[in-house]
Amino acid sequence: MKGYGGRILRVNLSDGKISKEEISDEMRRKFLGGRGFAAKILWDEVGGVDPLSEDNKIVFSTGPLTGLPLPSSGKMVIASKSPLTGGYGDGNIGSMAAVHLRRAGYDVMIVEGRSETPCYIAIQDEEVKILGAREIWGRTTFESQDRLEANHGKTIGVLVIGPAGEKMARFANVISQRGRAGGRPGMGAVMGSKNLKAVVVKGTGKIPVFNEKKLREMGRKGYGEIKGKENYDFWIRQGTMQVFEWCNENSCLPTLNFREGTFQFSKRLDGYALEGAKVDRKGCPLCNMQCGNIIKDAENRNVEMDYENVGMLGPNIGMDDLRKVGVLNRMADEYGLDTISLGSCLGFLMEASERGLIYERIAWGDLDACKKVIEDTGKRRGLGETIYEGVRMASQRVGGNSRDWAMHVKGLEVSAYNCHACPGMALSFGTSPIGAHHKDAWVISWEISTDRFSYSKEKVEKVVELQRLRGGLFESLTTCRLPWIEVDFGLHWYPKYLEAAMGEEISQGELFELGDRIYALIRSYWIRENRSWNREMDYPPSRWFEEPLSKGDLKGYKLDRARYDEMLSRYYEIRGWDENGIPKRETLEVLGLGDVVGGLGKHG
Ligand code: SF4
Repeated sequence: MKGYGGRILRVNLSDGKISKEEISDEMRRKFLGGRGFAAKILWDEVGGVDPLSEDNKIVFSTGPLTGLPLPSSGKMVIASKSPLTGGYGDGNIGSMAAVHLRRAGYDVMIVEGRSETPCYIAIQDEEVKILGAREIWGRTTFESQDRLEANHGKTIGVLVIGPAGEKMARFANVISQRGRAGGRPGMGAVMGSKNLKAVVVKGTGKIPVFNEKKLREMGRKGYGEIKGKENYDFWIRQGTMQVFEWCNENSCLPTLNFREGTFQFSKRLDGYALEGAKVDRKGCPLCNMQCGNIIKDAENRNVEMDYENVGMLGPNIGMDDLRKVGVLNRMADEYGLDTISLGSCLGFLMEASERGLIYERIAWGDLDACKKVIEDTGKRRGLGETIYEGVRMASQRVGGNSRDWAMHVKGLEVSAYNCHACPGMALSFGTSPIGAHHKDAWVISWEISTDRFSYSKEKVEKVVELQRLRGGLFESLTTCRLPWIEVDFGLHWYPKYLEAAMGEEISQGELFELGDRIYALIRSYWIRENRSWNREMDYPPSRWFEEPLSKGDLKGYKLDRARYDEMLSRYYEIRGWDENGIPKRETLEVLGLGDVVGGLGKHG
């Protein structure tokens, strides 16, 4: 089958063994690539392990479109058993490392074991080495990227962790190209637990495709179509920040640890404020709608900003100065901490301080206090010790009623959308396969423009439809979903791209089934790894049910628990899962996952 290098690179850091394995046709047909491959590998190889032990594995997985001359195809998925949630964890990242891995002839790299001393993996086509990382251990991601480029050349692809990953902060992520980030559920901590500081890749080969001429021609047309779209120019100006003011107007901007949905100083932070401060833009390889907005932060350093960062490190912590938000954003990237989780942890600490649940004083919007917390998280001391395992564990340490306002689902902190009056988006967070992340079903814009307050069947169906496309298709291809979502790039292109790359026609129905298969497999993974699984794990945080909004046009609104529960039951029904959210035997069999039934033990 074309479209693939066809090989998995396996690196064992305990014994130094490096091997190359073939990917079977069955694997390619059933799981396509990216998240699909990662979920299958983790199901088969990583069960019952401590996520930070040498028994865990980390998977770097590309898809059949990665690295090809097609719109926004410079992405890969990094997946592992998550130390933050205890379940399946992954994140995509835009990086030259994804492109180079494919050019070197590998679709996937699995890293297992643990090195005795700090190391990094260097791949140059067939040559794969495990090298000492003492000179970069302890350094920030930016400094490490500089050093690695000095050693290996500026054209390499780099995936690197910061001091937070080294110290195994459980929301440590992976950074590339000084600002691209991925792997929210602690993928950086897993690398740190293996003493793996970085991966550098250089590939000089060609990615084999079925019909190169046709693929290039369609790629050109695709890039052209994107540039001609009505919203293209505005997107280029603001990127994801175009949504900021809309969120404020619709009471879904995360404000003061998700207490509120509107922020009185939103104009100081919104897309237009950003435009005024913008000095450059950058983004992922092979993308012609790059969305990384560069501004000078309050310390006159360059930082790449997007909506999630500004939402969580701005209104969510009461910070009303864009350049100060930039300082925290840049420090998070340097230390290798996920900005969404960091913003949630800081908001949590501020609320705990306000309520007198912690001794330390940390006021809303206090830049210096936030900087200290970031440094301390990277060193695991002071308040950093309180939050380094995320808000779920922080609430256990802090006590009181903090469990009710620790904003997470399954241990992963909620992304930047307040859901007091968005039941569909709440369901999306509740049923996301990695915890409360917006990636899989950003249903909020459809929801607000249709029947916002309903708990309807249509809304549940929309969540599933978006999960199939966003969480199934795009995460497996592996390309960025934003051209489709943000500038209305035609979905019909993707089956055509796949056909030109692979030489096989895949229908939309088959692609939907692929998404369902991946979801069922990931859900099975959660069940197998969490013997105390129950449907409450698919609930959003209590705050949205118990404490109504006290400000704005939607003052008084909150979610209705019983009606949410009905939505959840409908969701399970559509997915073919039982009343506890466990995939039924017949569902698994229809999806070609009959072998998974045995792995579910008493649940199977
Ligand atoms: S739109 Fe943004 S996130 Fe998507 S590929 Fe382009 S730069 Fe990366």
